Amino acid sequence: MKPFDYVRPGERSSAHEAARDGGRYVAGGTNLIDLMKLEVMTPDTLVDISRLDLDGIETVDGGLRIGATLTNSDLAADPRVRRDYPVLARALLAGASGQLRNKATTGGNLLQRTRCPYFYDTDTNCNKRTPGSGCAAIGGETRNHAVLGASEHCIALHPSDMAVALRALDATVEVEGPDGAPREIALPDLYRLPGATPHIETSLAPGDLITAVRLPAPSGDRQVYRKVRDRASYAFALLSVGAVLRMENGRIAQAALAFGGLAPQPWRDREVEALLTAETPSDALFEKAGEVLLAKADPPPGAAFKLPLTKRVLKAVLTEATQ
Ligand SMILES: Cc1cc2nc3c(=O)[nH]c(=O)nc-3n(C[C@H](O)[C@H](O)[C@H](O)COP(=O)(O)OP(=O)(O)OC[C@H]3O[C@@H](n4cnc5c(N)ncnc54)[C@H](O)[C@@H]3O)c2cc1C
Repeated sequence: MKPFDYVRPGERSSAHEAARDGGRYVAGGTNLIDLMKLEVMTPDTLVDISRLDLDGIETVDGGLRIGATLTNSDLAADPRVRRDYPVLARALLAGASGQLRNKATTGGNLLQRTRCPYFYDTDTNCNKRTPGSGCAAIGGETRNHAVLGASEHCIALHPSDMAVALRALDATVEVEGPDGAPREIALPDLYRLPGATPHIETSLAPGDLITAVRLPAPSGDRQVYRKVRDRASYAFALLSVGAVLRMENGRIAQAALAFGGLAPQPWRDREVEALLTAETPSDALFEKAGEVLLAKADPPPGAAFKLPLTKRVLKAVLTEATQ
């Protein structure tokens, strides 16, 4: 492991200052430290943000403001989350293991890097790790790769379960720049598709600190999170669906659907949601939703199985949510 400096400021202003000097934030460290051991990421200075008093959770405007260093365990256990945002609690509990969730944080979970094995293997080419070097995944082992939103430069997936639920819940992210200036970013604007620059994964600038995640008041009481994976626990999603629906008089009044395991970012398709809205639930409708969702899918050979899998899981999720 490459030697590095370590600072643990108690004030945000000191953290910003360390970031301005090129420091990289570390929260739970469950992803970043692994990447440092492999020398995939080699920051000169780690700025530990665990003492910054960012681990609160409060009710604001009928919604929630979730501190960036609140652990995934504490977030999943919060009674307001369990009652009003069960899709989030279930997504969190479907991720990693109890020990990891005790360390992993809200901000770190959003910014965790892909689990593409070629990204982690420094003996292979990876445009995300080393821009311009090529993509060993293309033509390689592609069981855990993207079928939507990928590019000829990168087919890696975004791995977070939590982010899928947050996408369905219309979350926004509070950020402070290295000069301390605050701003808010809607989750879809946080993540970038790979295009020709897969190493640039988010709209954050160096030194930007995520301070909180905001959830609007819950808009749908029918919430489901379903994750398909190779093992029953402690495994990333082959596919996941987060659904937030509201029913009125037997019809779908509102539908928000987000997908993990399909794309380089938590995926949402407004065309699918519009197709479902104001309709009476039926198998035919749900099958059509799957077809529309995957109309533009371009799976690498190893991930072709995800197309029929997604259609079946989506149908099952929508059936459960509307019954
Ligand atoms: C064995 C294993 C299995 C796992 N399984 C799953 C799974 O099934 N589903 C799932 O979703 N996840 C899974 N994970 C990933 C886990 O959820 C993440 O590692 C964790 O959420 C990252 O949070 P952290 O606080 O430890 O981040 P860190 O490792 O501390 O940081 C991650 C990145 O975020 C940046 N960062 C952290 N906080 C901030 C902030 N506030 N502002 C700006 N930048 C910040 C860091 O600089 C770094 O680049 C698994 C991890 C492991 C090791």
